[in-house]
Amino acid sequence: MNRANVIIFSALLTVISMMVTPSRAATPFEFRALCTPTNNNPKAWGIKGTHNVDNDWGLWGHNIWKVVGKKPSRDIYAIVNGERDTTQYCFTSPMLYKYLEEWIIDYWGEKGARFSIIPGDNKRVCQCFRCKQIGCTRTSATPAVADMLTRLADKFPQHQFFMASYHSTTEPPTKPLPKNAGVMLSTMAIPFRYNFYENKGFHKFDAIVKAWKEVTPLLYVWEYNRNFDDYLSPYPCLFILQERFKYYHSVGISGVFINGSGYDYSSFDDVQSYVMAKLMFDSEVDVERLVRTFYKKYYPKSGSIIADYYLALEKRAKETNHILPYYGTIEEEVESYLNPKEFAAFWDELNEKKASLSGQERTLVDNMLTAFAYTRFMLLNTPGAGSENESMVEAQRQKFLRILGNHVNVPGLVNYKEITSPLDQFIKEHSK
Ligand SMILES: [Zn+2]
Repeated sequence: MNRANVIIFSALLTVISMMVTPSRAATPFEFRALCTPTNNNPKAWGIKGTHNVDNDWGLWGHNIWKVVGKKPSRDIYAIVNGERDTTQYCFTSPMLYKYLEEWIIDYWGEKGARFSIIPGDNKRVCQCFRCKQIGCTRTSATPAVADMLTRLADKFPQHQFFMASYHSTTEPPTKPLPKNAGVMLSTMAIPFRYNFYENKGFHKFDAIVKAWKEVTPLLYVWEYNRNFDDYLSPYPCLFILQERFKYYHSVGISGVFINGSGYDYSSFDDVQSYVMAKLMFDSEVDVERLVRTFYKKYYPKSGSIIADYYLALEKRAKETNHILPYYGTIEEEVESYLNPKEFAAFWDELNEKKASLSGQERTLVDNMLTAFAYTRFMLLNTPGAGSENESMVEAQRQKFLRILGNHVNVPGLVNYKEITSPLDQFIKEHSK
């Protein structure tokens, strides 16, 4: 085919696929979890129907150690380089299967629950005779983990069991899994930007999804919505997530876990959790309308200032197509979407407004201004920020550090990033 024909042919295929594929965009995901501070108290924010992995899973993440007790048989551990390695499991171990089976019977009975059967968080693979015989290699534990998953799923049809496409189990098994066994796919490979379809990471992820789809209909994603090096500065994630949710529906992904800041405070988390919860039910919802509705209800006097600023960031991230870092510096945020002058003007306007507020709204705004004092400080601390009048800039920095000191009064505002990063220590280090 010549180039023109190829274009016509591919356009025709798109039209045909649109005609035969029913729109699933308005279908809720069957699993909708938010790991965000706001979702720890969803009712307070009008959030309904979300899951919380701390309560809704029998076993979540890399936590088999919780099942096997303090002094388990050493037979459950992997043999790596000829020795038992207690940081990894042997997934063909009859003892490990027995521990899991008994624990599920004792604690979970007939009520359906979800269980993660995921290796320890490293790439080591058991090299025992059984594991090698079942097909494991030095880099792939998939055959043994899939075998364990299959046996548990067959034994407990009322429950669901998940492995993760991650480290030694990235590749799918060669045989289909039972219908109550599935996979959790990390989306870290897809750059967090609008119009992600054009990226190399997207094609890699898309290929992994398609490979797993051959062996299981239960596909969930492990999604992220933060800069994990900076919980406190703005991170406009909503339009980007909306686009990704539509894609997940189109490829048959039926569950979403959003990895936010967990129990730690993060800025704009209330509005974002509220809208993400709605998007997980219907990815076609009008994000701008929901943001404004939220702010009218919970920030009746100051909400329009906040909504205008927040939506401007969302629109910029969408229009400029910049990557929002999963792990990034304040300079990367500035390069991507955060305009220092605009941010300072927003903070000042909101701070002025605070004087006229009372009750819960005043507290919420005060919390926001406190957390954003970190961003004000960081923006003043970037190279070049102090070049005009260093003493004045230093006075500003110290002012924002003092405001940040109010973090002790803000629920959950202890760290400024994912890894233990106490604000107390940060303030101490930078105070003069
Ligand atoms: Zn083994």
